[in-house]
Amino acid sequence: MGGPANIIRGGHDGVTAAAEHLQSGGLVAFPTETVYGLGADARDNQAVARIFEAKNRPSFNPLIVHVLDFNAASVLGVLDERARRLANAFWPGPLSFVVPRRPDCELSLLVSAGLDTVALRAPAHPLARDLLARFGGPVAAPSANTAGEVSPTHTAHVAQSLGTKVDMILDGGACAVGLESTVIDLCSDQPALLRHGAITHEQLEELLGPVEDATRPADGEAPRSPGQLARHYAPRIPVRLNAQDVEPNEALLTFGETTFGEFDTSLNLSPNGDLTEAAANLFAFLRQLDTATHHAIAVAPIPDTGLGRAINDRLRRAAEAHTDTHNG
Ligand code: AMP
Ligand code: MG
Repeated sequence: MGGPANIIRGGHDGVTAAAEHLQSGGLVAFPTETVYGLGADARDNQAVARIFEAKNRPSFNPLIVHVLDFNAASVLGVLDERARRLANAFWPGPLSFVVPRRPDCELSLLVSAGLDTVALRAPAHPLARDLLARFGGPVAAPSANTAGEVSPTHTAHVAQSLGTKVDMILDGGACAVGLESTVIDLCSDQPALLRHGAITHEQLEELLGPVEDATRPADGEAPRSPGQLARHYAPRIPVRLNAQDVEPNEALLTFGETTFGEFDTSLNLSPNGDLTEAAANLFAFLRQLDTATHHAIAVAPIPDTGLGRAINDRLRRAAEAHTDTHNG
């Protein structure tokens, strides 16, 4: 039970305190030129899990990772010539690139919601840049509001929406743009607009040539951006939910105290029954269990409260994804 969120001024001491708080795995809300972001160390699964917990999101969507500049971004994602041209024109600024994660990428898997891609952006707001420089690493930050509410453009909105769930708010006054960043997908030869924002479709096409508008899926087509439902990470082998027992050749994913006995291949998302720890481990553990030596992953019941809802949402999608594609 924390007290009211700690609102701090953006001077040298304030930014230093905020950077130290990020370093210790805490949450800091900070201003960007678009909206206030709810930030955490993007390399720290537990810290990123706390973002989802604070926002009370019913599902895991991939988050935008904030960096200082193109060099910092290119350590994390595969940035090609198109990205370089866009960054030269619009960074720092309200444009996010979705690109493949580099094989040696040190980012949390939760930040990508298990996908092999990551959204990167260099914000222009001087306080955001101060914070990134002082912190010295990538910061995951979705808008600093409870799920379903509008994005906050003022410190007071953040405090109102998140209350005590945010440890610290860096006060930078009102946000200039008030619109979310534009999101462009650079993972394939055909660049695609995933979200409208402050940088327009026309501005992007001026630099890149034709950019597909994927913000609204064509009839009968699956939406591309996880923000709008999307392609979700799912294991290649089937996932069996609410397992009460384990069948031969199944790998087991459990939570809390377990009554399954000892298994060759069994991972516990959180032996202590801590849902934040479970969320932090989810994608890494699914990947570990997703091997050709098993026929399926049996998943023990997980409480459907708090972060458990987002965990169960993803597991259900994983179970359904396989049912959908199985006949092919
Ligand atoms: P937020 O971080 O909540 O401001 O929103 C992030 C936006 O970027 C959402 O619309 C996501 O769908 C999109 N996004 C982030 N990461 C990815 C990714 N790896 N692939 C596709 N879209 C992404
Ligand atoms: Mg939002």
